[in-house]
Amino acid sequence: MRQDKADKVAKILARLYPDPPIPLQHDSTFTLLIAVLLSAQTTDARVNLVTPGLFKRARTAAKMAQLEVAEILEQIRTCGLAPKKAKAIRDLSRILVEKHGSQVPAHFEGLEALPGVGHKTASVVMAQAFGVAAFPVDTHIHRLAARWGLSTGKNVEKTEADLKKLFPERLWNDLHLQIIYFGREHCPARGHDLSTCKICSWAATAKRVREEASKKGGARR
Ligand code: SF4
Repeated sequence: MRQDKADKVAKILARLYPDPPIPLQHDSTFTLLIAVLLSAQTTDARVNLVTPGLFKRARTAAKMAQLEVAEILEQIRTCGLAPKKAKAIRDLSRILVEKHGSQVPAHFEGLEALPGVGHKTASVVMAQAFGVAAFPVDTHIHRLAARWGLSTGKNVEKTEADLKKLFPERLWNDLHLQIIYFGREHCPARGHDLSTCKICSWAATAKRVREEASKKGGARR
């Protein structure tokens, strides 16, 4: 049942987004890493607004390592958690220079050891820079996987494990992006009509259908 749903979801998403582009502007593995780090709790659009200024100052680990944290902060100030991210960017650049020959490591262990880089950020870099199959799960994908009945995971780690079991590895990298694009385009935060949706109209869990119906009932009262 869950597998049938997953197969159908994959087909619909592939039809809607046959070749999903990487939403964060970058021109190297290093600039991708920095953009992904900046995207935590910040929209991709906001990240794409600040990165040109930042990368004008420094587009390599060696150059970034020489900047003061305050100079980085000045460029990324409008992103969420900017002070923490500015320090992480400077510190990770120094580590790349000192330990990795100024290159971004192409393995989870090395990436996740960098300041400001968690499993989700590392997964995006592994998938989009190195072409390694990964399934980065953020809160949006976590929420949609639950709404579609593909996972009952209480956290992103469990949802990632569930999704990896349901979808063939060759689809993971695209699916991560396709689900994000679908969510952005179709999924409002507030209650709405599930029956008109290309996915929830048939995939929504019974619990979700009841919740939406009661929200509507509440709105009418
Ligand atoms: S019904 Fe709403 S939440 Fe469910 S997939 Fe469609 S748009 Fe997203």
